[in-house]
Amino acid sequence: MHTYFISDLHLKPEQPHVIKAFTEFMLGKVVHAEKLYILGDLFEFWIGDDAAGLVKAEPLLELMKQVSTQTECYFMAGNRDFLVREKFTELTGFTILSDETVIDLYGTPTLLLHGDSLCTDDIKHQEFRQTMMTNTEFCDQFLSLPIPQRIEQAQQARMQSHEHKSQVSMEIMDVSERSVEKAFSEHNVSQMIHGHTHRQNTHQHRNGVRYVLGDWHRTNSVMSATHDGISISNEAII
Ligand code: MN
Repeated sequence: MHTYFISDLHLKPEQPHVIKAFTEFMLGKVVHAEKLYILGDLFEFWIGDDAAGLVKAEPLLELMKQVSTQTECYFMAGNRDFLVREKFTELTGFTILSDETVIDLYGTPTLLLHGDSLCTDDIKHQEFRQTMMTNTEFCDQFLSLPIPQRIEQAQQARMQSHEHKSQVSMEIMDVSERSVEKAFSEHNVSQMIHGHTHRQNTHQHRNGVRYVLGDWHRTNSVMSATHDGISISNEAII
């Protein structure tokens, strides 16, 4: 039996080929798997479970619901879909995990995280995490706004984020070595899996192994774990 990990699909109506690849993956591999973990940024943006229609997510939520009746499915939010709430669980049948959760992966304690918490050299992003993403008061207030107002605010935030990304170097947007080593020791694990940076790879660190998932625009990155070990492969790009 397999356990699959994916992240950073950034699903949006403008990219039907990614939606198609996700659908085929869910109905092909995932229905026959033991577990599926989605490690964040499944959607390009999410401004509330009541606004799923904005990213034409309804058929995808239904697909997820259908698959979750056969396979144990978990969802961890990323920095784009951190406004997922209980209604999402109801609609998809997925169990929501909080960022930085340790699971038992075939006998090996494994830290799962979206990955942006490790990018501590990116001060602007850490500010965003602190004041918005992980700030319950901010999130509750934002979700209580009428949808058009939420759209407006989200668009402003995205524009600022684009501007920021064009100004900082690629190194700053990657994980910080010190934060990775700290996460291994704080969670007392020697294996972690994350996405966010879109840089599919396997890294050996002083105190553990770090598996990084790629995105679904170029690589369709899928990590597969069994009793025999872990491998990262790439789904066919249609
Ligand atoms: Mn991300």
